[in-house]
Amino acid sequence: MTVVGLDDTDSRETGMCTTYAAAELAERIREAGGTVQRRLLVRLNPAVEHKTRGNAALAVHTDLDADRARSLARDVLELAQTDDPKTNPGAVVTDCTPAEVPPRVAEFTLDAIRERKDPTTATLLTDTTGFARLQDGNGRGLVGALAAVGAWATLDDWTYEHIAYREPDRWGSDREVDAESVRVAASRHYPAVWDTVDRASGYPVCVPRTPCPILYGIRGDDPDACRAVADAIESEPIDRRATFVTNQGTDVHLQDGTVGTVADDSAYCVTGTVATAPETREGGHVFLSIADGGARLQCVAFEPTKRFRDRVRALCEGDRVTVCGEVTDGTLKLEKFAVRELVRTEPTTPTCPDCGTRMSSAGHNQGYCCRDCATTADGKVDRPVERDLEPGWYEVPPVARRHIAKPLVRGGFDGATHPER
Ligand code: ZN
Repeated sequence: MTVVGLDDTDSRETGMCTTYAAAELAERIREAGGTVQRRLLVRLNPAVEHKTRGNAALAVHTDLDADRARSLARDVLELAQTDDPKTNPGAVVTDCTPAEVPPRVAEFTLDAIRERKDPTTATLLTDTTGFARLQDGNGRGLVGALAAVGAWATLDDWTYEHIAYREPDRWGSDREVDAESVRVAASRHYPAVWDTVDRASGYPVCVPRTPCPILYGIRGDDPDACRAVADAIESEPIDRRATFVTNQGTDVHLQDGTVGTVADDSAYCVTGTVATAPETREGGHVFLSIADGGARLQCVAFEPTKRFRDRVRALCEGDRVTVCGEVTDGTLKLEKFAVRELVRTEPTTPTCPDCGTRMSSAGHNQGYCCRDCATTADGKVDRPVERDLEPGWYEVPPVARRHIAKPLVRGGFDGATHPER
């Protein structure tokens, strides 16, 4: 068995993309007489986005021998747009099965999903492991290539994406995809297939906006359902199609954290109490802070998260919550949150038990009294407050979801869920 990891063959300027390079490599392996067992699409730390959104690396698992696979990988790297100085493609080729990759490579994969790894570490680890490596430019592509190689041994939650590619002469032009056919097919196969269309806005999330070769990508838990949705979409001609096994929609980037210990450029689940009520600032971004002990953490729901901000705005000081998202410059960018406990009452001035009017202050620290009836109260009393939230998980809509973030509809959460679709 052979595993080929690939990364950073894409270019923002000319539109090449790493999934396309992996699909091309798989095709060349088949032409050379090999069998492709699977193609992996591995999303790495979303905080590390050098030039394209999504920070993806790819792996192809095959029975072709490592030497021949390496020479085919070399050919495919040539396709990478190395005229773009920001493109630094890399490949790592192993001569073991995907599950037999050494534990330290598997650990490297998890680190590359949750932290920031540098090319030097990737190069040293590749060499000490005895894997072959290929690279152009500054070698940054080796980080993703090695991480993709270790993915099968370290991750256990997998989803699928069925990608249709455009004919090369159409790359960069407007895409012709019939939105209604997407909506109907997506609705028929939900929730086996998710994040295809954003229902509230009608936006076809599966159709990218970048000049890359992808026409659309259908994501879900069932590869057959993903294919069925793709089959039902009316569009311009399709050049080729490929199904990828992915860690998209799994939340594997999230680590358990505490309010006082989170670090920049990683993503966390953190539990605390709302300390500063939500505030909408310029641009429509909604800020709040949570506290735990003496520590505080600012959180933000950005404007593109749209209706999710209404759920965030419904939070009150004192609510117990778990927030999830990436921390940058000390601020957690909300991807989802769970309401653990809602404040159900608020202190208010008491009313007179005799006449029913609101009491007035009897003086500093002397409680309240009714001037007409001479009734008194020691202090404020609790009154119930109407809340527009329920306990459980809330999430950003599909249009704002990061590739790696887990849609609530996939299940497995510790509490009720309020899925967006
Ligand atoms: Zn009274």
